[in-house]
Amino acid sequence: MGEYSSIVGKLRDWIDERRLSHSINVSRCAAKLARHYGADVEKAELAGLVHDCAKNLPTDKAFELAKKYNYEPDTVTRMNPVLLHAPLGSFLVQELFDIQDTEILNAIAWHTTGRKNMTLLEKIICLADFIEEGRQYRGVDKIRELAFLDINRALMMGMELTIKYVLEKGVLLHPKTVEARNALLMEIMDADLT
Ligand code: FE
Ligand code: FE
Repeated sequence: MGEYSSIVGKLRDWIDERRLSHSINVSRCAAKLARHYGADVEKAELAGLVHDCAKNLPTDKAFELAKKYNYEPDTVTRMNPVLLHAPLGSFLVQELFDIQDTEILNAIAWHTTGRKNMTLLEKIICLADFIEEGRQYRGVDKIRELAFLDINRALMMGMELTIKYVLEKGVLLHPKTVEARNALLMEIMDADLT
């Protein structure tokens, strides 16, 4: 895929090597999940590759860029700026790589907080971000085990770990993450009933 390596080359101007290798891992993992769950493999691969393109921007630059795109971060994102890279990335990829596909843009925009009623591609990118092979944290093995058995349960576990982590750190919890977790639990309960 020639496009892939040209994107990798361009990404180097925006993210460091560590972030790039994470991105390549997310891309690979997302492709596997997409193949397994019957989602669009190429979209998953591409969304995974570029999902963190705005992650290495200094905070002031990130807010400046958001302004340029007329994007107004919500209060929680303003107070917890690490969250900005996800929605900001969905604008930046349009400019850098001419990616206009709404499904891909949404998968990038929601990869950190999640949201309720996520699409399959959104779930795949979010989950791949949690479990790519470079990730190491307590609980990751359990999520990896579940990832190819039940995407909703795996992702919900990731969301719950995020919520716990945020509470422990004493930083603001984004309401979208709570909505995402609850929506996943409702999907799981619905599936159990049928
Ligand atoms: Fe990210
Ligand atoms: Fe990431």
